[in-house]
Amino acid sequence: MAFDTVSANPNATLIHWSAERLRECGARVDVQVGDEPGKANLFATIGPVDRPGLMLSGHSDVVPVAGQAWSSDPFVLTERDGRLYARGAADMKGFIACVLEAAPRFARAGLRTPLHVALSYNEETNMHGMRQLAAQLAAAPVRPAACIIGEPTSMQVVVANKGAAGYRVKVRGHSVHSSLRDQGVSAVEYAAEIVVFVNALQKRLNAAARHDGFEFPHTSVHVGRIEGGTAHNITAKDCEFLLEIRALPGTRSSDVLGEIRGYCDSVLLPAMRAISADAAIEFEEIFDTPALDERGNVYLAQAIMPLCGHASAGRVSFGTEAGILQDIGVPTIVCGPGQIRVAHQPDEYVEIAQLEACSRFLDVLAGRLAKGELPLGH
Ligand SMILES: [Zn+2]
Repeated sequence: MAFDTVSANPNATLIHWSAERLRECGARVDVQVGDEPGKANLFATIGPVDRPGLMLSGHSDVVPVAGQAWSSDPFVLTERDGRLYARGAADMKGFIACVLEAAPRFARAGLRTPLHVALSYNEETNMHGMRQLAAQLAAAPVRPAACIIGEPTSMQVVVANKGAAGYRVKVRGHSVHSSLRDQGVSAVEYAAEIVVFVNALQKRLNAAARHDGFEFPHTSVHVGRIEGGTAHNITAKDCEFLLEIRALPGTRSSDVLGEIRGYCDSVLLPAMRAISADAAIEFEEIFDTPALDERGNVYLAQAIMPLCGHASAGRVSFGTEAGILQDIGVPTIVCGPGQIRVAHQPDEYVEIAQLEACSRFLDVLAGRLAKGELPLGH
């Protein structure tokens, strides 16, 4: 927790420190340089390196603390009433700490099925770390047979999450004195047309696919911020807004975006360009993370659920890296210590009892991997 790995900062110090801990217990460790200065992923294997194993995965970055009222220093782990307080305690350095602490026991267990440890960067921003790691794993001669991502689920197996995509939409119009508005193209008005279309699209999505495992049981589309124009008497040259899509498993954000683009291309742009040839509507992707679909992890979930003390599987609305791994054919579930409701908040904490439950779970896994019984991904 003492490594300040807020996503805007480098994470390499934490990665190299973790690599050292894993090498000390005989793991083969690969540090992958990231796509920004000071960023890195880690991929380590304990046990045989010539066969697929079980991967335990965590993101090493955390969300900022700026503007939050903390009772103690967020980068100093502080114990109060059976809880450990720090930025990342729940999301998700508590899990990473459990894995590093258990690594020597995995090493001593004499694993027949290997254990892989993966640490990524930028999960909280654009998920480029896991995208880069997944591309490397997909090209490797041996890739993990299954993966558990230790995001905070109170140690319940989570089998599905929605996808999440964010786009910056830039509308360019043509500005004239507003008394001559017929000769101008108002970027604000055309952006508003897109927002109205997005709201109508939501109503159509509500009438289409439904998944009752989620609190909001449909794919959602939403405009969260808009900015444009300069004055009340000038038609707006520019308007920009942020669009978010949270897609149900089985739905691609890009398909939903395609409907919005189709409307712009066929209806709005011809009308805009009839007045000004350089009018434009541009869509810039900020992030696009696929959903986790439970149809891809049935056997893995059934194998892991009895080991972690919850009889039922969960579904969550927050995005995780799991869908990226599922997309390269690695069955993946989410299960880790702590609660998501304290994540990203001031005074984030994890209960010591949750870390102990996670450690017990890891020891059971070590016993299974030693016998070669896991993973049961396929
Ligand atoms: Zn997280």
